Amino acid sequence: ASSQPAPPTSPNTVAGLPNAAADGPRMNATFVTLARNSDIWEIARSIRQVEDRFNHRYNYDWVFLNDMPFDDTFINITTSLVSGKTKYGEIEKEHWSFPDFIDQDKAKKVREDMAARKIIYGDSVSYRHMCRFESGFFFRQPLMNEYEWYWRVEPSIELFCDVHYDPFKYMADHKKKYSFVLSLYEYAETVPTLWDSVKKFMKTHPEHIAQDNSLAFLSDDGGDSYNHCHFWSNFEIGNLNWLRSPAYLDFFESLDRDGGFFYERWGDAPVHSIAAGLLLQKEEIHFFNDIAYYHVPFTHCPTGEQTRLDLKCHCNPKDNFDWKGYSCTSRWFDINGLKKPDGYEAEMD
Ligand code: GDP
Ligand code: MN
Repeated sequence: ASSQPAPPTSPNTVAGLPNAAADGPRMNATFVTLARNSDIWEIARSIRQVEDRFNHRYNYDWVFLNDMPFDDTFINITTSLVSGKTKYGEIEKEHWSFPDFIDQDKAKKVREDMAARKIIYGDSVSYRHMCRFESGFFFRQPLMNEYEWYWRVEPSIELFCDVHYDPFKYMADHKKKYSFVLSLYEYAETVPTLWDSVKKFMKTHPEHIAQDNSLAFLSDDGGDSYNHCHFWSNFEIGNLNWLRSPAYLDFFESLDRDGGFFYERWGDAPVHSIAAGLLLQKEEIHFFNDIAYYHVPFTHCPTGEQTRLDLKCHCNPKDNFDWKGYSCTSRWFDINGLKKPDGYEAEMD
C-alpha cells in the first residue's frame, strides 16, 4: 500500500485501525436493556451483535436497568463491549411491586390457577412486575429522562444484517414514533379482559384516540373485540416523549388501575401495541424490513434477496416469520395499503 497519513487516534481506535465511525449528526438516543445479573452472558451476545452490525460506527449510549444492584461482573463486561457510554440504574421499589389497590390474595389465586393451566409465565410474580415496568415505567427512569429515542435490546437476540444508516434518524426524519420487526397473535388466556379495559379507556378519553389510527390492525369487528395482534416488544425503536405524553400515561394509568397486570398476565407487548395502534397515526408506526432479528422462537429475515446481499445478512430466508399464518405483518401491510416486498408469496409456507 502507498503511504498514507495515519488516521487520527481516538478512544475507539483499535490496534491502529480507524473505527470507520459514520459521518453525520447523532440523535439524542440510547439503547436500553432490562436485565438481571444472571443474564450477563446472554446480554453480552446481544451487545456484541448490535455493536458489530451497527453501533461500532455510531457509539450510542446504553442504559441498563435492574430491580437489584448490578454486580461488578455485569458492569465490567457490558462496559467493555459497548462503544458508547454505559449507565446503570436500579429501579425504585414503587415501579417493581404490587400497587396498594391490588388484592394480593386474588392475584395469588390467579397465579395458582394459571400454573395449573400451564400458561407460560402464569405462575410468575417477577414476570408480572417486568411486564408492568416495561409498560409503564422504563421510559421515566431518571437515566432515561435525558433521551428522546430508545432501542430496546434483550438477552440472546441476534441481528443478522448490517444496519448501515441510523434508524433513530430515520424515525425522526419520517415522523415515526414506534417501530417493529415481528408481529404475532397474543395468547388469549393472558389477556381475557384487556380489550374491555381498552374500550373503557376509549370511552373516557376520546381526546387521546388518533384520527387515522390502526384499530383495523387490532380488531376485525370495528373495535368490538381484540384479534390479539401485537408488535413484538422485545425489539423496539421508539420515541420516549410519546411514552411520556399525557395520552400514553393516561392509557397506562387506566389499564394499571384495572389490575390486569396481576389479575391476568398482561404483557407489555400488547399494551404498547394497542397504545401505538390507537394513540398514534398509522404513518407514525414503522416496520423495519431491513433490520434482521431473532428472539426465540421467531426470526425476521428481510424479504428480498438483493437487500439481504447488500446488508451482508446471515439469516436463512426460509426462517422468515413475516408472511406465515401466525404473523400479523401481512395484516399490517393490508390495512396500510402497503405493497408487500417482492418474493413474499414464496415465503408464505
Ligand atoms: P420473554 O422474552 O417474554 O421470554 O421474557 P424475558 O425473560 O426475556 O424477559 C424480558 C426482559 O426482562 C429481558 O430483558 C430480561 O432480562 C428482563 N427480566 C425478566 N425478568 C426480570 C427480573 O426479574 N429482573 C430483571 N432485572 N430483569 C428481568
Ligand atoms: Mn426475552
